[in-house]
Amino acid sequence: MLCIGIESTAHTIGVGIVDEKCRVLANEYSAISPAKGGIHPREAANHHAEKVVPLIHAAVEKAGIRIDELDAVAFSIGPGLGPCLRTGATAARALAIAISKPLVGVNHCVAHLEIGRAKTGCKNPVLLYVSGGNTQVIAFAEGRYRVFGETLDIGIGNLLDKFARAVGLGFPGGPIIERLASEGGRLVSLPYSVKGMDVAFSGMLTAALELHRTGAGLADLCYSLQETAFAMLTEVTERAMAHLDLGEVLLGGGVACNRRLQSMVRMMAHDRGAKMFVPEGSLCVDNGAMIAWTGLLMHRSGLDIGLEESGVNQRYRTDQVDVTWIQ
Ligand code: AMP
Ligand code: MG
Repeated sequence: MLCIGIESTAHTIGVGIVDEKCRVLANEYSAISPAKGGIHPREAANHHAEKVVPLIHAAVEKAGIRIDELDAVAFSIGPGLGPCLRTGATAARALAIAISKPLVGVNHCVAHLEIGRAKTGCKNPVLLYVSGGNTQVIAFAEGRYRVFGETLDIGIGNLLDKFARAVGLGFPGGPIIERLASEGGRLVSLPYSVKGMDVAFSGMLTAALELHRTGAGLADLCYSLQETAFAMLTEVTERAMAHLDLGEVLLGGGVACNRRLQSMVRMMAHDRGAKMFVPEGSLCVDNGAMIAWTGLLMHRSGLDIGLEESGVNQRYRTDQVDVTWIQ
């Protein structure tokens, strides 16, 4: 069985093809990286519209298949930026009609989790999902992926990107901050905002920018941002593991590429006799293969949708998905 997946929730348009063993036959993508300011939804959607057809052709060629060998067409139906989601959805509908194959609408956050489970072999993890727009601690309970904690304001990636852009480091900020942080080592005090199982980052952003304005060294600030923000995430993840009595933690989302975050979570897991898992970087960032794989699981579970049900949902919550493919 072969499924193609189209990802278009934010700055990335991705097209992936997987088989029933979760072998990734293709995972092509193109991301818009604005020179100035944040992602403009319409500009990103225009970028996606321009790239999606060439990416579909490239993915099919890379996979070494004929397009009519595909069994299902999956796309990210939400959450995300409206114009971006609608562009991906339009491409998916057109493709499904053209090759007469069923359509599957995939929740983007659930897809990060499913590709991680399939690729790392963990069974029932707590997922720390850390990306540009999203930051959630998720685990499976009674038929759904439940959100046990999340950001109350901006995503962790957004914190890193906004800080980096404001101090002139460029975009995306996460990898640049990771590099600079390794040159710093003095911990500057920043707001540590954990509220129950939730976290907040905008106060930390304001404080870090103010410290930069008043002359704090950039490397030390990058180091401190990572240490403080990642400690907050590790704390709530550990609490979820303790309360749910789960022995596995899975990282997902673009920020999961960060070595310091990985090492903090690995240490926490090790100390409690648990295990940490993280898929390779190309499957952590937004990508089409994770949509294809989740689409394949859903298609096998009879969750195809008709065209009339394929409208996107910008605020589609992780815990709104009926996870019927897990018994
Ligand atoms: P996503 O939204 O899942 O595609 O992930 C994109 C986010 O991941 C952006 O905010 C990037 O800055 C962030 N990111 C990518 N690589 C790293 C890294 N090595 N360390 C921290 N953040 C990263
Ligand atoms: Mg994502």
